[in-house]
Amino acid sequence: MKRIGIIVCDRWRRCAGGKCLRALRERAGAFSRYANEEVELVGYTTCDGCPGGNVEYAPAEMKRNGAEVVHLATGLVVGYPPCPYIDDFVRFIGVKYGMEVVVGTHPIPQSYFETHEALATWASPGWRETIGATLTDEVTRRAYD
Ligand code: SF4
Repeated sequence: MKRIGIIVCDRWRRCAGGKCLRALRERAGAFSRYANEEVELVGYTTCDGCPGGNVEYAPAEMKRNGAEVVHLATGLVVGYPPCPYIDDFVRFIGVKYGMEVVVGTHPIPQSYFETHEALATWASPGWRETIGATLTDEVTRRAYD
């Protein structure tokens, strides 16, 4: 059993989590890593707005509830512009709480993929690595449009 928490970009603070929860159920996108594992979602919150002050505290509550992994939701990479603090969040959560951090939840929707490709947002090798868990393939991306 793997227990996880999800932190979403505050731009989507009213999001009901539909794509993330569907992807968790379907083990799609960044959740494909749990293909052969039971998963329990034990925390879900937003970063509380730039520069993400809630990231300092929310993982502690998730950890107390059994979370071993924190997922930074796909919204952090697909927003316009993407969150500029992703690397800071990954490093901070790992160092402060000793938790694994995964960038991404549901597959990148195709519409966002096309726009970011046109903008060359993710052209660098670093970005390609960052979106690696959620890039998936066109059929899957279209299913999450
Ligand atoms: S861009 Fe980053 S810091 Fe700003 S609201 Fe979104 S996740 Fe939070």
